[in-house]
Amino acid sequence: MTGGVVVVGAGLAGATAATTLRELGFDGPITLIGAEPVLPYERPGLSKGYLAGSTDADDLRVHGPEVYERFGIDVRLGAEAVALDAEARRVSLADGTTLSYDDVVIATGGVNRRPPLPGMERRGVHQLRTIAEASSLRSAASSARTAVIVGQGFVGCEVAATVRSLGLDVTMVDPLPGPLWSLGAELSARVAQWHADAGVRLRNDVGVASLDGGPAVTSVTLTDGAVLPADLVVVGVGARPATDWVSGVELVDGAVAVDADGRSSAPHVWAIGDAAAAWDEQTGSHRRVEHFDSAIVQGQRVAHALVGAPSPPGGRSWFWTDQHGHTLMHAGVHGADDVVVWRGDSVVFWVRDGEVTAVAGIDAGRDFRRAMKLIGTRPATADLQDDALDLRTVPAG
Ligand code: FAD
Repeated sequence: MTGGVVVVGAGLAGATAATTLRELGFDGPITLIGAEPVLPYERPGLSKGYLAGSTDADDLRVHGPEVYERFGIDVRLGAEAVALDAEARRVSLADGTTLSYDDVVIATGGVNRRPPLPGMERRGVHQLRTIAEASSLRSAASSARTAVIVGQGFVGCEVAATVRSLGLDVTMVDPLPGPLWSLGAELSARVAQWHADAGVRLRNDVGVASLDGGPAVTSVTLTDGAVLPADLVVVGVGARPATDWVSGVELVDGAVAVDADGRSSAPHVWAIGDAAAAWDEQTGSHRRVEHFDSAIVQGQRVAHALVGAPSPPGGRSWFWTDQHGHTLMHAGVHGADDVVVWRGDSVVFWVRDGEVTAVAGIDAGRDFRRAMKLIGTRPATADLQDDALDLRTVPAG
């Protein structure tokens, strides 16, 4: 074969894999296929600075065009993969082209879930994943007055905070008891307070029945009968892996099951980023992690594995979210029954049977980074709680 490496999905993970391959000295052909018409960009800014109008599209790029040119990476934009033939080692594109590969890296990210709500098609109803959707939401927000955000996950919470900062009247709705509920009741309560302090109304333990109006949305009806006026609705209810085009490899809940280096069940097929469920030592399971840092780390690891280089030292995966001027950072995996230990009011540890399983920091980047190193150790609870003790000196137990 002479097809080299074909990376399908020109997002953060795909771009990282492609450029890292060259940095490691890979000299075969590299093709980067992207369905969107633009160079790979970083999505976190879409719900923050880009939506607020303080960041422009070029600032979001993973690399400028000169980097792909210098590295001799054949970037094909506006090109959608529609089928994978893992036996014949071929990827088919929507325009009828077929690409042969020595190895293929699946990096197609996620697709927003679209709930079957009456009225989803009305003007003024938005979802957010791509820069095109962010541009259209930004323009709609500039003339809207009243927004309803459906879903209090990361994207919903960040969009609520940003459009509130633009002066809109904002209500967020979720059937769960609080925002970012997956992080546990304690952190959820803190985030709920940020929103309340900023004047965002929270409606919890209630669903959305319909998005009402004429051609344009004018209100949202909740399952308890309440009617919320809205000239802007943003539906952020999670995403599924963009793997409809993939066959012949093992999937876990739609994501490509891979080892820690991105290797799938099929020879020469690899997967990274939001489209992959990588083997996770901490939980002993395949876990799909939809975060910025994992996309980079997995992109780097797959490139190392492809050239036969030892895996780079893996840091622990973590993420952040920015809302109302606050930054929340989190690492590790905690269960609902883990004991929550606060260190002052800015660092949280989750502990199971004496072992730290996860940590979070609230506006506390330095302490968070130090606390991360305690995951997997068994320190004394009193030491974790002692905010006078330097976290670097906490005995691991
Ligand atoms: P993506 O960035 O989604 O890239 C996948 C690319 O593949 C896309 O360009 C897509 O168009 C393309 N593609 C899909 N199907 C095909 C196909 N069949 N053929 C060709 N190309 C295809 N994470 C954090 O840690 N912190 C944050 O604050 C944060 N904020 C976020 C805010 C928003 C609004 C969003 C949407 C995500 C945010 N994330 C955040 C998550 C983070 O951006 C993702 O985890 C990361 O982008 C995943 O990278 P990826 O390369 O796997 O996927």
